[in-house]
Amino acid sequence: MSDPRITAECIFCKIARGEIPAKKVHEDDLVLAFHDVRPQAPVHLLVIPKQHVATLYDAGEAHEKALGRMLALAGALASKEGATDGFRTIINNGRVGNQEVYHVHMHVLGGPDPLGPMLSGRRFGATRSE
Ligand code: AMP
Repeated sequence: MSDPRITAECIFCKIARGEIPAKKVHEDDLVLAFHDVRPQAPVHLLVIPKQHVATLYDAGEAHEKALGRMLALAGALASKEGATDGFRTIINNGRVGNQEVYHVHMHVLGGPDPLGPMLSGRRFGATRSE
């Protein structure tokens, strides 16, 4: 089986190269943003660096500009799509992070109503006193 971690096989690299379609909402020299194909909220965008980097474990100085731009754009993109009263960003990494696509991507999730709990709601370690 082909390894999706290899750039040529990477689905988000293919989207960045325009080889497969995506509903794009932003593109510049460093990053691309498009609608998630299986939205989990009324607004569900993915923001990716155009340069392939599999996970944040692999990210370094060379990726700082693109990663910074992803964060800097999140609010404007969320607003533009109608998530004007708050949104959530998520970057899943590796097995434990349940990462499905091995090209760093930031989920931008929002909509008219508050999102559910960030994780399962289970607590680990000491319980909080509040
Ligand atoms: P993650 O679990 O963080 O790796 O999330 C990968 C996300 O990519 C999922 O939410 C998928 O629905 C989304 N996805 C996979 N393929 C495509 C595609 N071709 N276009 C848009 N979103 C995609």
